[in-house]
Amino acid sequence: EPAHPSTSPAPAAPGTVIGDPAFAVEVLGVHKSFGALHVLDGVDLRVRRGEVTVILGPSGSGKSTLLRAINHLEKVDKGLILVDSEPIGYRRKGTRLHELSEREILHQRAKVGFVFQNFNLFPHLTVLENVIEAPRSAQRRRRDDVVAQARSLLAAVGVADKADAYPRQLSGGQQQRVAIARALALNPAVILFDEPTSALDPELVGEVLEAIRALAGQGRTLIIVTHEIGFAREVADSVVFMDAGVIVEHGTPSQVLDHPRHERTRAFLSKVL
Ligand code: ADP
Ligand code: MG
Repeated sequence: EPAHPSTSPAPAAPGTVIGDPAFAVEVLGVHKSFGALHVLDGVDLRVRRGEVTVILGPSGSGKSTLLRAINHLEKVDKGLILVDSEPIGYRRKGTRLHELSEREILHQRAKVGFVFQNFNLFPHLTVLENVIEAPRSAQRRRRDDVVAQARSLLAAVGVADKADAYPRQLSGGQQQRVAIARALALNPAVILFDEPTSALDPELVGEVLEAIRALAGQGRTLIIVTHEIGFAREVADSVVFMDAGVIVEHGTPSQVLDHPRHERTRAFLSKVL
């Protein structure tokens, strides 16, 4: 039966605690279809605070849709997603959940940083303006504070000298490092990366992975969709293998990459390794 979250916030799995503070992100029994295509077919995923989770899977398996749902860029059909114990798209009122307004959604979306494959910087804004835009508009923070933070974040990813340049004047690797600084500027509970290096020329991949590696070392909560298996092995606390809208396997890098239990995981790894 359709368990719409506004009438039934209970997740699919029995015994599941709603809003467990140990987790930055909880995806609970999530389904999503586009027309007849069932893209997320009952996804359960919990990400502990400070952990790096890498998601692997073939093209079309639902990885981007899952990340977009966590950031409220897609509305799920069934199930519930919590970020920082807050239900995405809803406000709690007693035991009931009420749908958020557009304005409230923008505010809530700022809890999640998103780094896209194609950088998605605003072309008409300078690098500095790109970084301060969401903290100013969605979080309504003071300009002085946000600018100071933005400059220090740009320095941390090695593009301090590009603050007044426009995105088109930067290399792909520099643009992606600006996008990482922009995500950090929200002070998000989690940062989602959707194939952050797949649009880059091979010689620029390393500098972006280096910036992500630094975040992992700072104890940030990260969810990274990538085909960089070596990088996954090095930075991930857990690795998820998705196929056809379900999580097939979820474990330590060694469990999933070296001792996969499912044939589908083995078949995928034999192609990408
Ligand atoms: P992945 O990121 O693992 O490659 P996606 O989540 O992008 O997979 O897509 C999963 C499936 O959903 C694909 O078949 C894709 O074509 C389809 N899909 C994604 N977004 C939409 C959309 N907005 N409308 C229709 N189909 C979509
Ligand atoms: Mg994708």
